[in-house]
Amino acid sequence: MQEKIGFIGLGIMGQGMARNLLKAGFPLRVWNRTHSKTEQLVAEGATAASSPADVAAHCDIIITCVSDTPDVEAVLLHENGIIYGAAAGNLVIDCSTISPQATQRFAGILAQKGAHLLDAPVSGGSEGAAKGTLSIMVGGDEAQFSRALPIFQAMGKTITHVGPTGAGQTVKLVNQILVVVTMLGISEALLFAQAGGLDLAKVLTAVSGGAAGSWMLANRGPQVIQRDWRPGFTIDLQQKDLRLVLDTADALGVPALTTSTVFNLYRTLQQQGLGAEGNHALVKALENLAGLEISDGGKVGG
Ligand code: NAP
Repeated sequence: MQEKIGFIGLGIMGQGMARNLLKAGFPLRVWNRTHSKTEQLVAEGATAASSPADVAAHCDIIITCVSDTPDVEAVLLHENGIIYGAAAGNLVIDCSTISPQATQRFAGILAQKGAHLLDAPVSGGSEGAAKGTLSIMVGGDEAQFSRALPIFQAMGKTITHVGPTGAGQTVKLVNQILVVVTMLGISEALLFAQAGGLDLAKVLTAVSGGAAGSWMLANRGPQVIQRDWRPGFTIDLQQKDLRLVLDTADALGVPALTTSTVFNLYRTLQQQGLGAEGNHALVKALENLAGLEISDGGKVGG
């Protein structure tokens, strides 16, 4: 019998992920703190739930995609949380990016009810969520991973079981180091190109297909040169992830030099009230240092 799926957290990522589950034919019950965000999905065939506990009471598998560690704790354990509707055998799949240590604690609490947890943070941005092409890095029990695979396949393309509970979150932090260090490099390179009087659209075309190419360059490079700061991923959420990286690096005793530099650069942008802009607005911190602005608007694709 097909398992009933619940989805909690219909933000930038959750909207696309939930829609792809509906498109794949899964019966879907949805809940979001701000109720209005459920309306479009209900119009497309989902059922609205009254609380996370209500989602859990009616579903076998409950997916969460909320902002931060305290937010997962809220939908899981607080009043009307998942734990109050969950039964033995239920599976919670947490697609949020949160603390690996807290993930292990949540798994222990669910286990007391006979329920399971997979940590399954995602990468690929709002575009990947909408297109169903996310990379999903999964920690937890192998049998639960196999159980959840059809769900992951509806939302993502590269699905990797990376180890026990918490390992998915740790791999996601590896991913975030690579994302921000790449974005710092793109920022520095485009500012350099600007100072050199180059046509930035041509620069992107020339370098994207070579060894310097990357997802960030292909997707965020054009946005930078058009000065389009709409978020795929906000600076505020990016900072949350970098805090998790720096905490974990501290616990592991490894240096994280460039990540801490980027963390401090983003902090200057947050101080300027830019925390809701996309993480590619990192270039603005370098512009402030250089006294130079990227101003190639409109030439993308030209
Ligand atoms: P978002 O658009 O800000 O959405 C956050 C979602 O979490 C909203 O549905 C929000 O509800 C809900 N939420 C936050 N705090 C809550 C609480 N205390 N109780 C109940 N619901 C709460 O964020 P997003 O970009 O979709 O990111 C979601 C997660 O995916 C984050 O962990 C993020 O790091 C991760 N992620 C994001 C991206 C990306 O490119 N955007 C990529 C990979 C991973 P309301 O609607 O009521 O505010």
